[in-house]
Amino acid sequence: MINQRMYELGSEPSAIRELFAYGMTRKAEIGEENVFDFSLGNPSIPAPKEVHDAIIDLMELPPEQVHAYTPAQGAAGVRTAIADSLNRRFDTTYSADDLYMTVGASASLSISISAVANPGDEFIVIAPYFPEYKVFIESAECTCVEVPARLDDFQLNIEAIEDAITPRTKGVIVNSPNNPTGAVYPACDLTELANALRRKQDELGTTIYLIADEPYREIVYGGPSVPWIPSLYENTFVCYSYSKSLSLPGERIGYILVPPAMKDARRVYAAVCGAGRALGFVCAPALFQSVIERCVDAPCDVEAYRANREALYEGLTNLGYECVPPQGAFYLWVRALEPDAKAFSETAKAYELLVVPSDSFGVEGWVRIGYCVSHETIVNSLPAFAELMREYQY
Ligand code: PLP
Repeated sequence: MINQRMYELGSEPSAIRELFAYGMTRKAEIGEENVFDFSLGNPSIPAPKEVHDAIIDLMELPPEQVHAYTPAQGAAGVRTAIADSLNRRFDTTYSADDLYMTVGASASLSISISAVANPGDEFIVIAPYFPEYKVFIESAECTCVEVPARLDDFQLNIEAIEDAITPRTKGVIVNSPNNPTGAVYPACDLTELANALRRKQDELGTTIYLIADEPYREIVYGGPSVPWIPSLYENTFVCYSYSKSLSLPGERIGYILVPPAMKDARRVYAAVCGAGRALGFVCAPALFQSVIERCVDAPCDVEAYRANREALYEGLTNLGYECVPPQGAFYLWVRALEPDAKAFSETAKAYELLVVPSDSFGVEGWVRIGYCVSHETIVNSLPAFAELMREYQY
């Protein structure tokens, strides 16, 4: 007999992937330019030139040096480069020993959760949320507790988070800039959350970890800066990935930061190494560890996303759609034109518009539009959005 849970995970349809597969078929039928595919979070801008140059440069080195296993936690060189970069940016004093290299944010999250979780523990997620959180939490035999964001602006509802904390609460996952809403959590709210978590830790005699999922840290459009959460709350894991900031999603490279101020930080770091081992991660890709060592401060070019964001937000609000103005990431959160977001997404398909229903993210009645696409796709899609709106007006 196979493992039923794994079978279900492998065969249950993911709305995002299904929509993407539908888009591929439809593009083959009617031409790529006629399908407005907003389903995925694949960055549309190329990786910076520094990355290309670093790869070419590394190819000059002896192959056995470039492609060899590194230590499980990552080569010392890349971890030192990341620690130095964080110290310059956030006025901190991290060292290579605080960092563990991973195969992207998904691994950073599953390893961090497994490092601290015991069966039966609870992790709080803020709905709407990245659907894989539930998979990672439940795979660690823990419970995913959904706490809704504030409905007017999709910011943190700190009172509701505090109310959801029980003696079994092991962690709270926060994602800012947020997928799918584009919200960036301001320092005042994160400070308030930190105070609430400390209050609960004292009251319950437990340790509650904040897991800061930050693959979109650099993708922001002005407004409030993205606060450095470990400076506000000591028991914070930072789960980072270069998938979005350097447009390297297929290369699988990221890290976990276990700040030295975390309670029992060295023991927790050892548990991170143990969880990575138990989950079968031998080491992050060696070539891309070396690339990151050389490109750690390469700028993320957000201008293309900014232009898309403005065209889409302006275009859709002018047509009468209700949209949450995104402060970061590259997604627009739009109210569906009927209560059933799945039905709305199906109707949108008739206009060749592929938008992800919010049910995938744990809430009803909205859709996510990924604007990490060509600017042309945004501009050419607006007449189709106008027709879709007209269908609901009559
Ligand atoms: N967390 C969030 C919020 C994401 O949007 C994504 C990817 O889209 C991930 C984690 C996973 O990132 P990675 O591809 O680096 O594993």
